[in-house]
Amino acid sequence: MATYEEFIQQNEDRDGIRFTWNVWPSSRIETTRLVVPLACLYQPLKERPDLPPIQYEPVLCTRNTCRAILNPMCQVDYRAKLWVCNFCFQRNPFPPQYAAISSSINLQN
Ligand SMILES: [Zn+2]
Repeated sequence: MATYEEFIQQNEDRDGIRFTWNVWPSSRIETTRLVVPLACLYQPLKERPDLPPIQYEPVLCTRNTCRAILNPMCQVDYRAKLWVCNFCFQRNPFPPQYAAISSSINLQN
């Protein structure tokens, strides 16, 4: 059985994420009493052999100063074929290849 420290290290090695704390403060008062601030070190380019690469180009935000990527956290309007950038709140049209997009999953393709 692994120790708690070994468990934390295994998760860091797998995910590439390290937090200053392993428990979230439960209130604003508790947050103000933290001697070490709540922070995260994240390695976005860490190799993850269990995750296959995506075989299509990313959809970018149309605002030139943003260029964020369409992601699961974005708000999507399926009827208007728009997505809202969650960094700059720009409303972006979907590219033509997304014309058939809907809120349901189509498993026929
Ligand atoms: Zn944006």
